[in-house]
Amino acid sequence: MRSKQSPAITLLFLIVLSTSAFGQKGKKDFQNEINQKTASIEPKVISWYEDIHQNPELSNREFRTAMLVAKHLERLDIEVTTGIAHTGVVGVLKGGLPGPVIAIRADMDALPVVEEVDLPFASKVRTTYNDQEVGVMHACGHDAHVACLMGAAEVLAGMRHQLKGTILFIFQPAEEGPPAGEEGGAELMVQEGIFNDLQPEAVFALHTDGRFDAGTLAVRPYGMCAGADQLEIIVKGKQSHGAFPWLGNDPIVIASQIVIGLQVIPSRQLDMTKALSLVTIGSIQGGVRGNIIPNEVRMLGTIRTFDAEIREDFHRRIRQTAQNIAEASGATAEVIISGSSPVTFNDPDLLTRMTPTLVRVTGEGKLITPSVEMGAEDFPYLTQNAKGLYFYLGVRTPGKEIESQHSPTYYVDESSLQLGVRALSSLAVDYLNGR
Ligand SMILES: [Zn+2]
Ligand SMILES: [Zn+2]
Repeated sequence: MRSKQSPAITLLFLIVLSTSAFGQKGKKDFQNEINQKTASIEPKVISWYEDIHQNPELSNREFRTAMLVAKHLERLDIEVTTGIAHTGVVGVLKGGLPGPVIAIRADMDALPVVEEVDLPFASKVRTTYNDQEVGVMHACGHDAHVACLMGAAEVLAGMRHQLKGTILFIFQPAEEGPPAGEEGGAELMVQEGIFNDLQPEAVFALHTDGRFDAGTLAVRPYGMCAGADQLEIIVKGKQSHGAFPWLGNDPIVIASQIVIGLQVIPSRQLDMTKALSLVTIGSIQGGVRGNIIPNEVRMLGTIRTFDAEIREDFHRRIRQTAQNIAEASGATAEVIISGSSPVTFNDPDLLTRMTPTLVRVTGEGKLITPSVEMGAEDFPYLTQNAKGLYFYLGVRTPGKEIESQHSPTYYVDESSLQLGVRALSSLAVDYLNGR
């Protein structure tokens, strides 16, 4: 049916049409703006990365890194709170339009590792950690996380008037775990109230990954990283001369049997088809010289699981194995399991919703579905009341060997950083403005 329209109505109609077509930005326009802004700050992001890489700081000691971050956020006119959970920094960016709250997290700490990568900005830093002199290196790529989130903060601050909602930028200390006797990390940041006034609906984070090429991202729904528990076993025997072991009770031999005994649990006692699990003893300390059998041996380890029931059973068997082996020799083993991190869980609905964004920022065939990861994260503490999305940023130079995280040769290809900034910025904009 046709009707005649007056010129005034036609004009009104044209105004409405032009506003909806050009006045409101589509996803493509936002993406173009993000791409252009990201490209223009890439040299800055790389220089932040190199600076932080050269000046790594251990968990709960991220003073310099936190100051860099706070100054940057202040310059962007983002509301900043510092000193959370020791050195944590939170920035609040309020968009020009009403909408939900989201958060993006970067961890800031480095590891007690002596760097072996031949780089002009390689770390030469040394410090004391648990009474040992150690090197300090960003061997987990948290330097790249900080640089990417500083970049995303700059991109998003430049678009604030268009954003429908609020973004929290969480720069977190001590993801690798606080030093002995201290608290720290994501759990402490939440305890200290970072979400008291602004509870995010969704929390995003990336982690560098040397298994995947620069220019790719990797993500899977449900369990992404394992749950982790810290393990400590103290074997008490009896000190004696190394040449008269029958007069003492050798805790070094007993500790060795316990190490082997623990490895039998996941391989022979737990249902490996149900969920993966493992235990590693990473530190054994006992004795001062070759001809004295010591009184005591202390072992430190980590337990990884993907399933709550298996986890409980695993703990019970670890205690039983260690205690019974020690008892068989007339010694004792004290087993302490502590410092747990839950499984890092990617909300399947959130991932489905954000997958088009991740595909768009990476390009055809560059969004990978990885296998589950035995590494653990304290990121789940940030998603107790929110949906979480945690993904890997490929950082391997194509064609180069895979470098494991925490190794002295871990290497981040700088060409990966731009994708990190783009992915974090695009997830934020699409989540807030894409409904
Ligand atoms: Zn790590
Ligand atoms: Zn890490």
